[in-house]
Amino acid sequence: MIMEYEFTDGRKMKVGTMFCVGQNYSKHAQEMGSEVPKDPIIFLKPPIAYIPDGGKVILPAISNLPHHEVELVVVIGKDCDDVSIDDAVKYIAGYAVGLDITLRDIQNKAKKDGHPWAVAKGFRTSAPISRIVPASQFADEIPFFVLELKVNDDMKQFTNTREMERNVAVLISYLSGIFGLREGDCIFTGTPEGVGEIKHGDRLHAELKGYITLDVSIK
Ligand code: MG
Repeated sequence: MIMEYEFTDGRKMKVGTMFCVGQNYSKHAQEMGSEVPKDPIIFLKPPIAYIPDGGKVILPAISNLPHHEVELVVVIGKDCDDVSIDDAVKYIAGYAVGLDITLRDIQNKAKKDGHPWAVAKGFRTSAPISRIVPASQFADEIPFFVLELKVNDDMKQFTNTREMERNVAVLISYLSGIFGLREGDCIFTGTPEGVGEIKHGDRLHAELKGYITLDVSIK
């Protein structure tokens, strides 16, 4: 099965590697009992973890504490290696709102044991992403967005992406220098404070305010 993003202008693009940034907002780092890390925390989700707007998150039975994390997602439009911070904007295809669904109990145990987060973060359906807003809508600048998440109509997370510790250009420069970035890769840029539990039957509604929305249900 090939996973494909949908753009608001109808274009499609194959989903590549999903790079995710940990603890990129200071208040979220605090609620996790940490400080913003000296070097970025990076983890991956496989393309099969993607689900589109309107999809269903299937919670694995191995966890008793699944959490929501709403995030700005940046989709890469052109292959690049070793990009400078100033040039980063040239490689962005578009922006979306995504959910980094996390098995918090599994992640906490992995942290304690010094093990990878792959199961806690990369399971099937762990990466809902809205339709992609083309970067061409924003001239040559990387915009700031208001990001929010409601669970069953209750506001749970709310921020402006200018609160990020490492901004989108810095993240593209960093990731392109280590992994290289390819068309269809995306970056989950980190979640603000307010993460919390989700349960079977919940309805999640996320927004890049004024641009795009994402609705998923929890199976
Ligand atoms: Mg996250």
